[in-house]
Amino acid sequence: QADAVDPDAPVALELDGVSKTYGETTAVDDVSVRVREGEFFTLVGPSGCGKTTTLRLVAGFEAPSAGTVRFRGEDVTDVPPEDRDVGVVFQNYALFPHMTVGENVAYGLNFAEPPGDVSREERVQELLELVDLEGMADRDPNELSGGQQQRVSIARALAPGPDVLLLDEPMSALDAQLRERLRVQVKAIQRELAITTVYVTHDQEEALAISDRVAVMRAGAPEQIAPPRTIYHRPETRFVAEFVGDNNVFEGEVVGVDVDGYRGEARTRVDVAGTEFDVVTGRNNVPNRGESLTFCVRPEHLTLEAPANVIAGTVESSEFLGETTRVNLEWQGRDVVLRTREPLSGEVRVGFRPGDAHVVSR
Ligand code: ATP
Repeated sequence: QADAVDPDAPVALELDGVSKTYGETTAVDDVSVRVREGEFFTLVGPSGCGKTTTLRLVAGFEAPSAGTVRFRGEDVTDVPPEDRDVGVVFQNYALFPHMTVGENVAYGLNFAEPPGDVSREERVQELLELVDLEGMADRDPNELSGGQQQRVSIARALAPGPDVLLLDEPMSALDAQLRERLRVQVKAIQRELAITTVYVTHDQEEALAISDRVAVMRAGAPEQIAPPRTIYHRPETRFVAEFVGDNNVFEGEVVGVDVDGYRGEARTRVDVAGTEFDVVTGRNNVPNRGESLTFCVRPEHLTLEAPANVIAGTVESSEFLGETTRVNLEWQGRDVVLRTREPLSGEVRVGFRPGDAHVVSR
């Protein structure tokens, strides 16, 4: 990605072996991550995986049961939230209804002087321009749409010029259209300020769309941390492969391996429920005969023209999605998902290229 953050940029914030337990529950389990200056870093995962708790540990609303939180290399584990230079945006906007939009933004300054050489009024104007709400200062929050209200709360969080912006599911109360618009706006604001951002969502599509890097969390810890494209195309585990986007996961037994020393790849033959498939694996990852192997194939890589790796299944359902149709096949008692231009029915044969299969662990 052209706009990815420089991997040599200084570390803005770091969790080092951080855990948080509530009685018997381990909400966050020994998490170590480093977020770089200017990076848009997203925590995504199913309900209860510890996203919000991780964010609250960064903000300082919670104290870790173990581990260290650092901002720019400095230990802030015992520093209260108001002294951490973070701006926080919550799901439910939390605007004051009896204050105007401008007063809500000014409230973000609290008693602090505005950053730069500007008055409070000028700072409020600056921020309203930034979030594309210029001219709205005298409105009441309830006269604004949900997306506009959320932009006011972003402006309020940014008012004192924090080093780090934290957002906890800021779009989940909005409908799909507003969400997509706001997502583009949030990304643009983040880019313009180049502010280090940690974002929490359960929506994997949102995570892929908005982030420089994504941490896919499971049971209190990241299972993979990588740029969106890597998460999508090179998931490391079955959990990540299944959580992010549609995917077809197959598990089988290795029945043959052919190493091509010239191209540096191995072609592995895998038996899945009596059907054999050819799968390309990296040279460093050559499996042994008799081992079990799990691989996945994205729906868009299953095609009707495929010469090899044929899956002969029965169409269970077709969903028209506009640009494509999502087709569910039943094959050997399994669900197989593909995307086609036209709806399909009856018996169909689809296949995939060996290089389009991707091996995952666990
Ligand atoms: P969601 O998407 O549903 O908000 P999440 O990934 O943000 O989930 P957390 O809210 O961080 O998850 O919760 C992680 C786990 O810790 C859950 O099992 C939750 O019930 C538990 N938990 C969180 N906060 C507390 C608390 N204050 N007291 C007790 N248990 C808690």
